Formats: sequence, structure tokens, C-alpha cells
Amino acid sequence: MSVSDTLLAGLNPRQLEAVTAPEKSILILAGAGSGKTRVLTTRIAYLLREKMTSTSEILAVTFTNKAAKEMLTRLEAMLPYDLRYMWVGTFHGLCNRILRRHAEEANLPKTFQILDSSDQLSLVKRVLRELNLDPEKVDPKYVVNVINWSKEHGLRSGHLTDDDADRETRNVYAVYEQTCQREGVVDFAELLLRCYELLERNEVIRAHYQERFRHILVDEFQDTNILQYRWLQLLSGCGRGPHGLSKNAVFAVGDDDQSIYAFRGANVGNMADFLRDYAVAEPIRLEQNYRSTGVILDAANALIAHNSGRLGKELWTSGVRGRRIVVKELEDDRAEAEWVGYQVKAERERSRTWRDFAILYRTNAQSRAIETAFAGFGIPFRVYGGQRFFERAEVKHVLAYLRLLDNPSDDTSFLRVVNFPARGIGPKTIETLTIAARAKGFSLWGAICDETIPKPPKLMAFASLVQAMRDKTAQAGLSLVDTIKLVLNGSGLRAHYETEKDGEDRIANMEETMAAALGYLKNEEIPEDQPAMSVYNDESPTPLQGFLTQATLEAGDKNEGNDVDAVQIMTVHAAKGLEFPYVYIIGAEEGIFPHFSAINGDKNGRGGLDEERRLMYVAITRAKESLVITHAQSRFMHGDHYSNKLSSFVDEIPEELLDVRELEEGSGRSRFRDRDEDRWERPTFGGSRRSNAYGSGRSGGSSSYGSGGYGRSSSYGRSDAGEARAAYGASRKTLS
Ligand code: ATP
Ligand code: MG
Repeated sequence: MSVSDTLLAGLNPRQLEAVTAPEKSILILAGAGSGKTRVLTTRIAYLLREKMTSTSEILAVTFTNKAAKEMLTRLEAMLPYDLRYMWVGTFHGLCNRILRRHAEEANLPKTFQILDSSDQLSLVKRVLRELNLDPEKVDPKYVVNVINWSKEHGLRSGHLTDDDADRETRNVYAVYEQTCQREGVVDFAELLLRCYELLERNEVIRAHYQERFRHILVDEFQDTNILQYRWLQLLSGCGRGPHGLSKNAVFAVGDDDQSIYAFRGANVGNMADFLRDYAVAEPIRLEQNYRSTGVILDAANALIAHNSGRLGKELWTSGVRGRRIVVKELEDDRAEAEWVGYQVKAERERSRTWRDFAILYRTNAQSRAIETAFAGFGIPFRVYGGQRFFERAEVKHVLAYLRLLDNPSDDTSFLRVVNFPARGIGPKTIETLTIAARAKGFSLWGAICDETIPKPPKLMAFASLVQAMRDKTAQAGLSLVDTIKLVLNGSGLRAHYETEKDGEDRIANMEETMAAALGYLKNEEIPEDQPAMSVYNDESPTPLQGFLTQATLEAGDKNEGNDVDAVQIMTVHAAKGLEFPYVYIIGAEEGIFPHFSAINGDKNGRGGLDEERRLMYVAITRAKESLVITHAQSRFMHGDHYSNKLSSFVDEIPEELLDVRELEEGSGRSRFRDRDEDRWERPTFGGSRRSNAYGSGRSGGSSSYGSGGYGRSSSYGRSDAGEARAAYGASRKTLS
């Protein structure tokens, strides 16, 4: 058997056709589990092995950093090549990489830092304060949504008209842009827009990448937004060349039925545009599913058939029929969580590993009940995309000090730690400093260094503390880990948490930052004793910068990378592209899944009921062998008890595929709940987190999405929790 035979062994004829297709642009349009990702990965191996493509000529775009890592691991197993020069990553990660290399041309400082969504929100709040706007009148979350939506459509503040946003909001956006520029920080959406603008404006840089990346491969293409599509066009030299109509060959794989980010601006229309713009005659279709049992697949097919405007495809499998899908009714959300825990535990005993199980839900808030129940059962679990490691307050404090060492004009970080741990520096002092800084066009740090601006001694003490740490790092050429250690001790963070009642965990998390840093160095093959802040290569960032970037861009869960055997708990959005032998979809109720905002909202597929159905299709198709769907008679949400009807999506699955288990009166409680009822009333179950997750305060409903990143940008209309609740109440009335 030749080498290429081993690469291609096991592919079905259509997959083989896709992998070995001529070097032109190609679109693969195929349903879940049909091997799209596998084909894309094998295509890369094939190009390297058989087509003399060099690794540096390949750019692959994946949906998550995890997927990028998995792809590299699989390729490493397939090929004896050094894959260092191949670019694999998310849109954000790749744009960051380009911007770091060409920071000057992109009009950014080399040390630019990335704002995550909560940093972005605090920056907007700060701008509102500086403009003397009342946050009661101008909702900061609304402004964030306008900014992100605009950037995703390639629009700067100056491009917006009265139709897009009111004058006040546009002004906030403009001041926000200036502030980011002055402080050398970029938000997630900015990474993409800035990179797009750079490539569009700078012919030399554009030509460089067009020469370099002869092959561009994109997974989950259905979820690209308009700006990402245009970015791909620039990189591929679309409209100018031999490969179809583009200079370089784009290999795109996607599934219109799995488009679940329309609410954030993703545009399924990109698939049709792709066929036209890249002169692709016919998409390649893969219809054999290798993932799920016949029953699961039939259910998915039947469900998605209720959507209109599909590009159309059916999946089949030659595999086993499998068992029916259990639909289980429980008394309430706690009983639901406990029943699931009980089931998982029972199944696990039949010699399964924990990681074979996934619990999927529509909104982040639902994980609480599961976490509590699983902890009670002693089931190891891991929550993805909940509060991520790098988003924990204590970890963000550490990062803020590190950022300040790296980039003193980062006002966001300055403000985060200037009085943390408390140093008696009050808001008045900060306000005076801010006014003085603005008057001179300085950053806050710049104002501190300016001798003509008077400062109270406490502020000067803070400045000396930071300066001392910076000097020490630079002079002694401290490694990244030692720099972090210096920050933990030198900033007073460790001492502060030592005096706190529950400070132990927080200290452990801060220390875990060092482990994360080590992991980062190892991945990047940077020697551990490499100084954290010295520039050792004119193209790459310093280890400190690289690490800070990774901390912001990556999910960075504490257990990431460790091969912990644990049940995987996540939102459906986060489960995209993954597969598990045992899947539980919890909260299959009207109002939850489909989500009330979709029931009442836009019915034309953009974030409406069709998108919810696609989301359910994604959820169902994650399962390989066993699927269980649960719903509860009553549920505590928005600070109140609700009785929701069973999800209409379950009704759309043919009855013969289901094993429906209704609640036997009085059975649920005693069987699955610990007799000590108090145990389940502990604070982790409290109401505050619940209502937050449904957007307490004036939010556009963004926080209920578990996808990470920001909220519903395509419908950034003002609404508040009261309205949301009212809307929900209304839907409840009409539906039940
Ligand atoms: P999704 O739409 O959910 O992202 P996908 O189309 O990307 O799914 P893959 O994840 O690539 O599908 O493949 C699904 C499963 O089927 C994987 O476990 C993969 O290894 C397996 N698979 C794909 N093609 C074959 C094949 N020809 N023979 C055996 N197994 C296959
Ligand atoms: Mg895939």
C-alpha cells in the first residue's frame, strides 16, 4: 500500500473525490457527521504529501482553538512533517497574527492588547461616564451591541447613519474608537475589521499573503459573517486568478442546517455567493453519516425538514438502528439534574469513561443545577464556556498587572488594579487624574509620569510599585513564570486573598496562571528561561505578549489540555463540530428551547424559530449512540416559577423514534433526590445567577447565549429584562 493509499483508506467515493479534487475552489455542502472536518483535514495531508504543497502555503480556519489543536494533532499523526509554518486557527486568532506582524502598518502599537467582552463593556461604561451620559438612559450593553454589529458589517462610527443608530450612540462609538486607539487596545470585532482594512488598504501586505497562502481551507463555513467572507476574498485574491475566479484555492466545508450564528451576523448566503464568486459549478455533497445511529439520524432529518429554504440534503447511515430516544419528564429543574446524574452514573458503571457523556443545554444558566447535582453524586464534570478560567476576577487581576507591565498606556488595566488590592485610592482621585490626562492627551500612566500634574502620595506609591516590578522584570530578564510570581507577590494580590475567607481557591487560580504560562511556552516551543519582556525576534511578540493574547483569545479553561476524564457540560453553541457517545439535551421546553426570544421574534430565520430548530438539529446530531431529552413540569427562572410545555421540537420527531416517559406522580422526588432536602437548597442554587443569565438589567438579551464572545448583534434593539419577562409571559400564555 502506498503512502497516499493509507491517507485515503476508508474514505467513501464522494469523500475521496473531495479530498483529491483538482486545486481549485471547492464547496462541500453536507449534513452533520458526514465527515466534512475529516475530509478537510485529509485534504491538507493530501496537498502536502501528493501535491508538493509546502506547509507554509496552507491556511486553515477552524471554529474554535480546540478544533485547531485537534486538527494539528491529527495531521501530526498522519504525516512526519514539521507543521510549524502552517497557519491553523480561528478568524480572530489568524487576524491577531497578521496584525502583530504588521502592527505599524495597521496603526497599532506592537504591544496592543485584546479586550474581552467584559473589558469591552467596562470601557464603554467608562466612555459613558466621561461623556456625562446616564447609564440609565443610554444602555451600555446596547452600545456594545451596536459597536460589534457595526464592526462585523465593516462599519466605523463615521459610516453609521440615523437609520443605524441615534446620534448619541454614534458619538459614544466614536469616542470609544478614539479611546481604544489611544490606549492601544482592540476588541474582538476590531481584530477582524482592522485586519480586513489592513489587507484592503495595503497592497504590498495583501500581495504577500496572496502569494503565500495558495490553499485556504475553511471549516464551518455556514457560520462566517459578511466581514469574514470579505476577508477571505482579500486573502484568496478572489476575482483575479486561475483557481476558479480566485488566485488561490479556497476549500470550504459547511452545512446550512447547522447555521447557528445568524443572531451574530453569520450569513448563510455566503454559501451561494461563494459558488458565484469562486466559479464553483456544483457543491460536493456527502450524504453518508458515520456518527449516529439510524434512529438518531431519522430524528434529526425529520426535525430539520420543518425548516424552509434549505439547500436540501438527507443523511443516511449504514450503521445500526440503535435504541429509541428517551424523552423524560421530571418534576422540576432540580429533579431533572438529579435524574440525569443518576442515569449518567448508572450508564458509567457499564464500563464507559466519563468523557463519553455530554450534557447540552440552550442557556448557560442551566448548568448550575447540573453542577450541583453532579457534585452531589460525585460525578467528575467539566463545564465548557461557562465562566472561563481567564475570566475569573482574580485571574483577570493578575493579567491586568501583567498588561500594565507590558503596556503602561492600557487604561483599562490601570483602572482595574489601581485600587486593587485596596490602597485607599478613591474615585475622586481617579477622576481628577483622568481629567488631567485627557486635557494633555495622555494615558493615565502618562499623567502619572508628568511632573506638572499634582498627584496624591497614595497614587505615587502605586506608580512606584508598578514601576519597580517593571524594572525588575526588564533588568533581571525574568522568565514568564517568574514575572507572574513577581506580580502575585509584588502587587499584594496574594496577601490580599490570604486574608479573605474563601481566598484559598482564588490563590490556587492565580497560581494556575503560572501553569497556563508554562503550557503556553511549551506549545510555542519557547524556552522556559526566555526573558518575558525582551524582544527576541522582530516578528513575534515577546513571551509575555504572546501569553496575554492567548489568555484573551482562548477559552482557556483551567482543565484545557489536561486529559481529565469528566462529563462534558456545555451549551449547544459550544458543542458544534463535536461528538459524544451519550448525549443528554436538558430543558426541552417551550420558552427555553426554543428560546422565548425566538418564539416572539423574527420569524424569517435570522435568529428566529428556524435558527432555534437548527440549533436543536446540532444538538441531536452530536450523539453517536444514545440520546436522552429531558423536560421539567416546573422550573425556576427569571426569579419565578414557570410551567413550560414540552418543546414543540420534540413533537416534530416521529413518535416511533421516541421512548416517552412521563412523570409518575410523586415518583421523581423520592427516588432521585437525597432525603436531606436542605442539601439542594444551598447557595450555589441561588436565584441571582439565574436571573442574570436571562439578562437582568437593561440588556439586549445577550447574556443568555453560551457561545462566548458578545451578544445578539443582529438585533440590538433596546429591551430590558422586564420586557423580556413580559414577552416570555405572553409566549407562555399563548403556547400553553
Ligand atoms: P459536523 O457537521 O458535526 O461538524 P462533520 O461533517 O465534520 O460533522 P466529522 O466530524 O468529520 O463530520 O466526522 C464524523 C465522524 O465520522 C467522525 O468520527 C469521523 O471520524 C467519522 N468518519 C468520517 N468519515 C468516515 C469514513 N469514511 N469512515 C469511517 N468513519 C468516518
Ligand atoms: Mg465538522
